[in-house]
Amino acid sequence: MGIKVCKFGGTSMASGNVILSAAKIVESDSERRYVVVSAPGKRFGGDIKVTDLLYQCSDEIEAGDIAAFKETFGKIRVRFTNIEKEIGKELHIEDGLNEAENEILNGAGRDYCASRGEFLAAKIMAAVLGVPFVDATEFVRFDENGALDQEKTFALGAEVLKQYPRAVIPGFYGLGANGKVKTFSRGGGDISGSIVARSVYANLYENWTDVSGFYVCDPRIVDSPKCIPELTYQELRELSYMGANVLHSESIFPVRSAGIPIRICNTFRPEDAGTYIVKNSTRDIRDYVVTGIAGKKDFTSITLEKSLMNAEVGFVGKVLSVIGKRGISFEHLPSGIDTLSLVIDNEYLKGGVLQEIIDEMVATVNPDKVYTHENIALIATVGHGMAKNVGTSARLFKALSEAGINVNMIDQGSSELNIIVGVESKDYVDCLKAIYNEFFNA
Ligand code: ASP
Repeated sequence: MGIKVCKFGGTSMASGNVILSAAKIVESDSERRYVVVSAPGKRFGGDIKVTDLLYQCSDEIEAGDIAAFKETFGKIRVRFTNIEKEIGKELHIEDGLNEAENEILNGAGRDYCASRGEFLAAKIMAAVLGVPFVDATEFVRFDENGALDQEKTFALGAEVLKQYPRAVIPGFYGLGANGKVKTFSRGGGDISGSIVARSVYANLYENWTDVSGFYVCDPRIVDSPKCIPELTYQELRELSYMGANVLHSESIFPVRSAGIPIRICNTFRPEDAGTYIVKNSTRDIRDYVVTGIAGKKDFTSITLEKSLMNAEVGFVGKVLSVIGKRGISFEHLPSGIDTLSLVIDNEYLKGGVLQEIIDEMVATVNPDKVYTHENIALIATVGHGMAKNVGTSARLFKALSEAGINVNMIDQGSSELNIIVGVESKDYVDCLKAIYNEFFNA
């Protein structure tokens, strides 16, 4: 018998009734043996995720405002006790809430506080399914730098989970090198699901969410885009990094080396096929040119021009050291013979940092000219089919020119898996629409 790991996201855990639907999904397939859950998310537009309330609690504790903390924690209490009522079973959730509140008041820390949504949600799911609860702190380990310690985690995960033929595990956290609870970045429950899948060598990692898979383009921008039936790990990485946020962009790493496929499924439409994320594509590349399009706004490009730059040994190294020593990473580095551009997330450049960097670059490499574009959006057109289908870039750029969009930057990865264009942020939506119409709506 195979093993499937199911991870249910925040909207699939948002209310008692939805949790019961998720439990039904688990029970409908005996291979669904390990379940990872997120904290209750939004039930409707304008609702607040339990994790957001917990971060608010932590802010209030840090500010020493106990009354505000109590009020916010009260809202979390209501969320969980309502879930218990809807489920209609005694789940002793009040005990868990009291313990969490006391620990937070006694200085358990920000990550502990943020993790309690997942902890309590997993307790509930375990009770509903009648399956053991296994805490993520038993096997998810971080190193001194705060990164996931994959080796330790997979070894411990295999050892711990082999004692349980079935288990429910909270997502989003593990144990830091200092022995305290530590969380992943936001949305990190997807990484936890992937860790569990890798630890038990699952045949499939099912990620249950509120959409029926990855869309070829953001449905908020184009009308009714199709779902992508199958993506490779690499394509997923490109698309999720560029803003297609169905799945956390780091969640493929644990399963990738073991080649475990991921399936994105919809808790509210479990019959839909969803999107499979696999190591090697089984699609015929003659059937499709582009797999998907995604984009992000708010970047700045810094361009340096200098005659004979290509012959100047160490030029790029010196430029990169200016940002490297400030802990700033760059997204892209398109270059010509005498030009070099760095594309950097605006987050890094606030409060005069951009000017500081430019001044130091001028002093270090003495360029003939420096200029910046401060409102750039990056749009990635992604797909393994692009390398094999002649004329893809011609189609893309013709579509952009016909839409009157000025392209500031072009970067094509050497694997020919993507073409990234940089345009003014104001052209972001039109750019996505033009590429979508060319490849998916023709
Ligand atoms: N609850 C966490 C968040 O809201 C983690 C997750 O849902 O994956 O970011």
